[in-house]
Amino acid sequence: MNTQLAVTNLQQSAQNQKSDYVVAKFGGTSVANFEAMSRCSEIIVADNNVRVVAVSASAGVTNHLVTLCKKDLSADERSENIAGVIAIQDAILNELSLDADLAHGFDETIKAFKSLASEPLKSKQQHDELLSFGERLSSYLFTQVLRLNGLNAVRFDVRQVLKTDSQFSKATPDVAATAVAAKEHLIPLLKEHVVVTQGFIGSDAHGQTTTLGRGGSDYSAALLAEAINAKSVHIWTDVVGIFSTDPRLCAKATPIARLSFDEAAEMATFGAKVLHPATILPASRSHISVFVGSSREPERGGTWIEREKSQVPGIRAVTQRKNQILLTLKSPEMLLASGFLARVFAILSEFNISVDLVTTSEISVAITLDNAPNASRPELDQECLDQLAEFCHVSVENNLTLVALIGSQIQLQQQEVNLMNVLSDFNIRLICHGASKHNLCFLVEQSESDFVVQAIHSRLLEVQNAA
Ligand code: ADP
Ligand code: ASP
Ligand code: MG
Repeated sequence: MNTQLAVTNLQQSAQNQKSDYVVAKFGGTSVANFEAMSRCSEIIVADNNVRVVAVSASAGVTNHLVTLCKKDLSADERSENIAGVIAIQDAILNELSLDADLAHGFDETIKAFKSLASEPLKSKQQHDELLSFGERLSSYLFTQVLRLNGLNAVRFDVRQVLKTDSQFSKATPDVAATAVAAKEHLIPLLKEHVVVTQGFIGSDAHGQTTTLGRGGSDYSAALLAEAINAKSVHIWTDVVGIFSTDPRLCAKATPIARLSFDEAAEMATFGAKVLHPATILPASRSHISVFVGSSREPERGGTWIEREKSQVPGIRAVTQRKNQILLTLKSPEMLLASGFLARVFAILSEFNISVDLVTTSEISVAITLDNAPNASRPELDQECLDQLAEFCHVSVENNLTLVALIGSQIQLQQQEVNLMNVLSDFNIRLICHGASKHNLCFLVEQSESDFVVQAIHSRLLEVQNAA
């Protein structure tokens, strides 16, 4: 079945026969230790509809694994990072005794981890294999915590159902194959069990382990919800919902009770780390509502993301994404010529580089690219730059931040003057607005971006919300 057909089928079945199932996802801090895991288990006990639980690696583990993937690691660094992973698991294990079925799998997984992590890796496939251990380990421990709380929990290897292509470190899910595998292997378990599985990881057509990119467990949860026809996905994290900006940056940021799929997708795309950017895609196409709340304080509620019934006007949030690269490509031949942009984009696509903002002038095009820290592969390879340099002058600027204003209908009019006033205090490198009415973006120096976000929040959002 081709992907488009599969998606259409899923959408139809989503409308026809949605189940009451809920997929709950618990992020790294929510499963950081035994105490945090126990709090999460209370959330699951309280909601009988939660039948699939997708867990992240315990906080800190994936960072160790990313370090272990590096080429030029000293022997000391290698053992420190291996020990770091083991210490996090041991701290949880000290509070638990694993049932025989889980103990066996856990021990085997630890052995496999140590063996792979002890030597330099030879392939991108091995990178993904190594990165997968965080989620594989935390899911054993979390299953036991649920059993301690009286739930009939089973651990399930998500690689049996979450099928992807073979683009290691940034795999694209195969929705059709995932739906078929879920029907066969996962759905039959749900009547009797709470299924604990892994976020972030999947497997390709050859059964090799793949990963969906950093922060990908949110995306996994939405994909699993789509595959089992769940009515909602609950993303449990360390904040009480999605805020008007990162609450770590602005003390006056406020949680947003309701967001449309479009607004949430834009926020995630433009840097609100609380959701992986692709999470909304399956949710929106299959009519699955998404909730975001704090596993520490579930009673405080959170944000519901749903198909919009009515649009809330104005700017609803400001986000930022650091470590952006500005690529400027100049060619006098571009003047009045056709095909220049097509050539540029063909090369970027060959290197699987996703472009964010684009502005053009008569003889140049400026493009922004994401260079996320801790990404398991660099966004821009030298080979790609060399190919571009064959037909244009290439300049690369680093250390920039993309700041985005997000809303349903950003029509500046009244706020235009205020915005220009705020921005006039800073050095703005590039502005983009128009392709979508949901955002207005600009690039600033990274060293200034926190101040830009704080200024926009206090002088536009706080003023608007107080009015
Ligand atoms: P998890 O490990 O649960 O996936 P993340 O660290 O990936 O959690 O995401 C939660 C973090 O996202 C919060 O601690 C917060 O600092 C950050 N964040 C950034 N922007 C926002 C926002 N607009 N609203 C809420 N949290 C945000
Ligand atoms: N453990 C992975 C990461 O840290 C995936 C996730 O937590 O969503 O990126
Ligand atoms: Mg996350």
